[in-house]
Amino acid sequence: MADTSSYDVVIIGAGFSGLYMLHKVRAQGLTARVYEAGEGVGGTWYWNRYPGARVDIESQEYSYSFDEKLELEWEWSERYASQPELLKYVNHVADRFDLRRDIQFKTKVLSTIFDEAAKRWTVTTDHGDKVSAKFCVMATGCLSVPKDVDVPGADNFKGPVYRTSRWPHEGVDFTGMRVAVIGTGSSAIQSIPQIAKQASQMTVFQRTPNFSLPANNGPANKDVVADWKANRAERREAQRNAPFASVMIKETDVTALSVSEEDRRKMYEQCWDIGGFSLLGAYGDLITDIAANDTAADFAREKIRALIKDPKVADKLLPRNHPIATKRPCVDIGYFETYNRDNVELVDVNEDPIVSITADSVKTRNAEYKIDALVLAIGFDAMTGALNAIDIRGRGGMSLKEKWHDGPRNYLGLMVAGFPNMFIVTGPGSPSVLTNMMVSIEQHVEWISGCIAHVNERQASGIEATETAEDEWVLHVNEVGNTTLYPLANSWYMGANVPGKPRVFMPYIGGFGVYRQKCNEVAANGYEGFELSSA
Ligand code: FAD
Ligand code: NAP
Repeated sequence: MADTSSYDVVIIGAGFSGLYMLHKVRAQGLTARVYEAGEGVGGTWYWNRYPGARVDIESQEYSYSFDEKLELEWEWSERYASQPELLKYVNHVADRFDLRRDIQFKTKVLSTIFDEAAKRWTVTTDHGDKVSAKFCVMATGCLSVPKDVDVPGADNFKGPVYRTSRWPHEGVDFTGMRVAVIGTGSSAIQSIPQIAKQASQMTVFQRTPNFSLPANNGPANKDVVADWKANRAERREAQRNAPFASVMIKETDVTALSVSEEDRRKMYEQCWDIGGFSLLGAYGDLITDIAANDTAADFAREKIRALIKDPKVADKLLPRNHPIATKRPCVDIGYFETYNRDNVELVDVNEDPIVSITADSVKTRNAEYKIDALVLAIGFDAMTGALNAIDIRGRGGMSLKEKWHDGPRNYLGLMVAGFPNMFIVTGPGSPSVLTNMMVSIEQHVEWISGCIAHVNERQASGIEATETAEDEWVLHVNEVGNTTLYPLANSWYMGANVPGKPRVFMPYIGGFGVYRQKCNEVAANGYEGFELSSA
């Protein structure tokens, strides 16, 4: 039956953000309803079940810190947890904190409209629910809406088509099949080595070669885990002050060109051996100085080249059109080595573009590849996609999508002027996708929870970002972004992967620790840049 109740808080999304948000508002004695389009909790880790899916940050770092007992009791089995293990973890959290009773699954929120007279949000769903809420929290995810399929003729294919972001729950057996994979981003780079082990023939269609760093995955190291648990308070504090919210990416003022070539090489070799993102913390200017960046990029290219037997294939795989780290680097297990297999072929679609998918093949300008299955690893309408998919209207019926026509605008990535009592978790304008997301999520949820308490304690009807604060923040986000190399890449950070999307560097690159400090100061100064409205 359709719900017409009133709630203190409506939360959209039951990934890591929505679950923790629910836990926090419940602790304040507030009533809450969570709507989730999927059939279960987990968000990213519920939807992205492709073979090889796993986290790119060490498991203990990519986990909730808010409950000490949870952290001490949970045991990760691998250095980088796999998707099934992450899904098990998030389900454990939902059960442990009895969260499911306030979550409505298989329900998509269609609109959230601010009723100025009532000073409340009206939320409607595809099940006919029409509920009222004082506060609305968008925990809808930065990478939760697959981008539209823009591969010519994709509808013609008569065989199975799999999107990495909507992978079948029962898994897929590719044994004996000829498989085409389109895309070479993180999702492709993780799944290609796994699919290649089953397929009789695999053809990878690459548009942009990507930097990928070795995960050096393995069973969880008992000493590392014990050290983390024994020093968790200190480690967690270090994460919260770190520029990328991870202790693995060290903060340093040492610049790449201030050291000798020999020392630099030694440093890069050490980082490569550690694996994962550690290379990004080697020097303090890798994302601001192109000459410094080139030293790391050259090193990575040299490592990639050494992994591939055929020099022509290696040449195609070397990323040259963007500085290293200006796209989120991929972290892989045996990706480049996969091209040494006899059953794997690489097609550079810049040299030989895809003309059309047909009923049983991928046709390029110069060739035709007969296939039995098609895998699309083509990415997401990132950061703004999930918000723009909902009809969100603030004061005077203003549409968020229209307000954001030329790029997202908000204050601290948290609230939008003209949209009172609506919060965004890890929105554009916050460090978000540049960081270890678990730390960013916890910081936002805790800030939002504190803000809600502040409003209620003052018996105010609401809180809203001022236009001035928003304008200044947007300017600052752009200015900081433009001091870096990030705008040089055609990345989804820039909206460049979605045709027609405004080209704006969306996340905030001022550093997670700096940003967190700013959010704390704003709250301590009575929510500076925000206005309370009377009841
Ligand atoms: P999500 O997990 O995306 O959850 C949002 C939920 O909202 C979804 O379940 C969605 O169904 C629901 N939703 C959206 N709109 C609606 C609506 N209108 N109505 C109802 N429900 C709605 N980050 C890292 O830091 N490290 C990693 O290694 C990493 N790996 C990733 C791997 C993949 C394949 C992807 C796609 C992302 C990865 N990320 C990673 C980013 C990841 O999204 C975050 O780490 C984190 O899981 C986000 O949690 P969330 O709850 O904010 O959003
Ligand atoms: P992505 O990084 O956007 O990669 C999409 C790939 O598809 C790119 O290679 C892109 O090429 C290609 N592509 C898109 N449209 C195409 C077309 N029409 N024809 C040919 N090629 C096309 O998406 P993703 O791999 O899903 O990753 C998105 C983000 O999710 C990552 O950056 C990361 O933050 C997160 N993620 C993390 C992990 C992890 O390691 N834990 C795993 C998966 C995802 P272009 O580059 O030329 O656009």
